[in-house]
Amino acid sequence: METRTKIVATLGPACDEPDVLDRMILAGVDVIRINLSHGRIEEHVARVAAVRAAAARTDRVVAVLADLPGPKVRAGQCPVEGIDLRTGGRVVLVPDTDHGPSVPGRITVDYPTLLDDLGEGDRVVIGDGAITLSVLSADDIGVHCQVQTGGVARGRPGVHLPSERLRLSTPTDEDLVLAARMAEAGVDFLAVSFVKAANDLRLVRMSLAPASVRLVAKIETMAAVADLDAILGEADGIMVARGDLGIECPLEDVPHLQKQIVRSCVEAGVPVITATQVMESMITAPSPTRAEVGDIANAVFDGTDALMLSAETAVGIDPVAVVETMNRVAGRAEREASYTKWADRLGRWQRRQWPHGPDRITMALTHAAGMAAVDAGVDAILCCTHSGRTVQAMARFRPTPTLISLSPDPQTVRSMALSWGVVSLQVDTYSSTDEMVWYAVERAVAAGHVSHGQTVLVLAGAPQQQSGASTDVLRIVRVH
Ligand code: PEP
Repeated sequence: METRTKIVATLGPACDEPDVLDRMILAGVDVIRINLSHGRIEEHVARVAAVRAAAARTDRVVAVLADLPGPKVRAGQCPVEGIDLRTGGRVVLVPDTDHGPSVPGRITVDYPTLLDDLGEGDRVVIGDGAITLSVLSADDIGVHCQVQTGGVARGRPGVHLPSERLRLSTPTDEDLVLAARMAEAGVDFLAVSFVKAANDLRLVRMSLAPASVRLVAKIETMAAVADLDAILGEADGIMVARGDLGIECPLEDVPHLQKQIVRSCVEAGVPVITATQVMESMITAPSPTRAEVGDIANAVFDGTDALMLSAETAVGIDPVAVVETMNRVAGRAEREASYTKWADRLGRWQRRQWPHGPDRITMALTHAAGMAAVDAGVDAILCCTHSGRTVQAMARFRPTPTLISLSPDPQTVRSMALSWGVVSLQVDTYSSTDEMVWYAVERAVAAGHVSHGQTVLVLAGAPQQQSGASTDVLRIVRVH
């Protein structure tokens, strides 16, 4: 059986060639991420078209996720040789929204209220987390800092200020402009950076209406961790953005937050991506470290739906080899993972009050289907779905039989690429429950996922029901 953990890979100069993109998809990429923090909008739009063309050439279902930059604060341009910040040395941070250059000893920051918002003892992180500063004092000249962990600042590095102090909110005006353009370009998911509360997602959704794109909330602030339940009610997916999260909280907290977030997502049936530095060493090396292999296996044991590659595929030396390696390591871990007791485990985890209404019925019926699938020894579970909710609720149980989603909506078909174990097929609409059941079976047989003599479980809503209505049909049939 194919690896059931999904792979998200970030596009960049290392994989812009159509041949490389095709080979990455054939090696197991399910979702392509376009990072909107770098490059021009025209390039991003062209990349969406390039992914669609590659999916057609390889005959694979591939979703596109565009990642919004969020409220990033940046330093002014450093000299070409970089600025060497030595541990124990001093540096002054100066607000400058005109993007004046940074020079040794004086770093400009494009954040107007810097002098008011930072105070003694605050931690400021420059770049990807390697350089940390501790604030000594702030006066009319600037914010005086001591370098805690040194390094060389290059280009226009990000400046991470404590998020509870940051006055910039999510989504930014730039996010909304980019979101509208990427929705128009037909992306399947938009990832919203630096979400602090569920309302941040509502603002993006409202700005796109009447268009609609599935939203992934990046959990990278402690405010988002605290508001996770409400965010889960609003998000179509979650990303554990370990890079910025590891700046916001002590690094040693990250693995535990990761487990807590993944567990809540599995329980709610919301797909979750574990992201950042998963195979970092493969940016420059042909094989991963033992620790990276362990990280992937542990993320699979946690129950992540998807693993994400960032710079490894965007600028790494061999994007195809990275995907092949990740696919192999995740597949091996799945053989060790104990999914048979998954339903019990879900029950043992804190039982939430599911909202009344259709979702509660879908949750109950998929729970029953999970048990019936084991008792009847079915070979496949077929979910006829408009929105994808039925199959996501079913995926919570990490079922052993092949899990197949059948939807008439092309965006739903692609979006299921993010959900654990889901094989996604496009179908026509149907008019009666009987017709739907047999049509789903025929379609799964035609696609080679089910064969004659096998037993399959079919889940669906009555055909006249619209997207968002509950799943209310469970049939177990033998394929003739
Ligand atoms: C992260 O911070 O881990 C992350 C995925 O976000 P970005 O790549 O935008 O920094």
